[in-house]
Amino acid sequence: MEKFDLVVIGSGPGGYVAAIRAAQLGYKTAIIEKYETLGGTCTNVGCIPTKALLDSTHHYVDVLTKFKKQGIEIQGVHLNFKQMYQRKQEVVQKTTQGLTFLMQKNGITTFFGTASFTSNTSITVTTSAGEVTSITAAKFIIATGSKPATLPGIHLDKKRIISSTEALALAEQPTSLLIIGGGVIGVEMASIFNRMGTKVTILEYASTLLPAMDKELGKTLHNILKKDNIDIRLEQRVYHVDTIGNQALVKFRDKEEQEQQLEADYVLMAVGRRPFTTGLGLEHTDVTLDAKGFILTNAQLQTAAPTIYAIGDVIGGAMLAHKAEEEAVFVVETLNGQKPHMQYNHIPSVVYTWPEVASVGATEQELIDKNIPYNVGKFPFSANARARASMDTAGFAKVLVDPKYGEVLGVHLIGARAADLIAQAVVALEYEVTAQDMYSISYAHPTFSEVFKDAYRLAVGQPSLTI
Ligand code: FAD
Ligand code: NAD
Repeated sequence: MEKFDLVVIGSGPGGYVAAIRAAQLGYKTAIIEKYETLGGTCTNVGCIPTKALLDSTHHYVDVLTKFKKQGIEIQGVHLNFKQMYQRKQEVVQKTTQGLTFLMQKNGITTFFGTASFTSNTSITVTTSAGEVTSITAAKFIIATGSKPATLPGIHLDKKRIISSTEALALAEQPTSLLIIGGGVIGVEMASIFNRMGTKVTILEYASTLLPAMDKELGKTLHNILKKDNIDIRLEQRVYHVDTIGNQALVKFRDKEEQEQQLEADYVLMAVGRRPFTTGLGLEHTDVTLDAKGFILTNAQLQTAAPTIYAIGDVIGGAMLAHKAEEEAVFVVETLNGQKPHMQYNHIPSVVYTWPEVASVGATEQELIDKNIPYNVGKFPFSANARARASMDTAGFAKVLVDPKYGEVLGVHLIGARAADLIAQAVVALEYEVTAQDMYSISYAHPTFSEVFKDAYRLAVGQPSLTI
């Protein structure tokens, strides 16, 4: 029987960060992963491989559409799909190897196998070869993440009806791809394949893309992706997906309730993800689940079993790597007697389309629903000198501020490098900085960040210094 202070189950961004922080604080720590590599969804089949492919395809499109205008003429450009996927895999491999190194460096014991609880204080780990190790610990953190969801009656056969996981492992470039769901995975995957030259269609149930974000972002992204030739259909109700030979077939009702059907090489289901607790043996513990299968926790992220905590996708909320990481540090430092805090409203969301989309804090709709007064400051990237210099003029920065004190309530961006720009807005929200403070500081010129200066000025009735 192996004995630890803390055992972390799952090695995604929640799990590996929890293990590292615990080891740093002196706990005898183990991490258990059922797959062959560390890193979970994010590193293996999520954040990292998608960003690698988004980057490659972005370069490809720039060569095709921007270079000539910039005076760079290249003949015979073509896309090497296998090489692009190979590089993506190398990025994944380097990152998972880095995590293996980090576990060793911090003295964390790694077990590869499936963890299953036998009580509130003990588990077994079963390797793929069937070897079983028994482990006890004072505390456990469950960080088992999530799996792709599908719609009722639609089976992910992983051949023609696929999830993002299979899309990241295709052997060759599809001619056509039908994506069900215009959320984050939907628009990122649509961007990757459309840029390669695949005919991409998105069928979305809601009335905008990215329905969970500020509505103006989804509407603006829709116009941009439409111009890029993605066929986007909103308010569509998909009810049947099947395969016919080498094609996938989708049946749906459109906005006018008309029956429609489309065929494509693949149908990619991108309708959300579900918590993953299969095989975890939770029936041998006091841990409870909600109706959707998410593990229930209190404000300390402790489950109904006092020895077991849970973090990341498996407890619901925003399914984001950095949310899982924050929760990891929060739980370990809480166990250590420290007083960390989680501020869920200040966790940014980023969508890595081009232009990028990024958000933090309240959306306009949330403020309206809660009867909270606000002023809007909005500034277009087309009026930003840096954006013009790099032919990246699409999008805007929108800041929502309290009319009385100028406190920043929400920041919503669509534009070049929004993914990195949003970091400044997180500081503004976290430290209750006012719009006046935000426009009074110096922004390097010419930078994309200058969109903020004018947006904050406009939000408090100051004239723009640029337009
Ligand atoms: P996971 O990363 O899912 O890790 C859970 C791990 O637990 C897995 O490795 C699993 O094998 C293991 N496990 C499960 N059960 C057991 C068991 N019984 N025993 C042992 N091990 C077990 N988020 C972002 O913030 N930015 C992005 O750009 C981004 N891009 C994404 C792109 C895609 C295509 C997808 C699918 C997701 C993306 N996400 C992104 C979301 C992000 O991947 C998740 O929010 C994040 O991985 C959640 O981390 P986690 O630690 O909770 O779980
Ligand atoms: P999502 O919740 O972002 O989007 C699902 C979409 O499917 C929604 O727009 C929803 O309206 C739509 N939908 C639901 N039922 C439908 C139906 N019957 N027909 C058509 N459309 C339907 O989920 P996702 O895109 O699958 O992503 C899963 C999770 O992974 C998200 O929580 C996301 O945060 C995370 N993720 C994050 C990133 C990132 O941070 N850049 C990237 C990818 C994934």
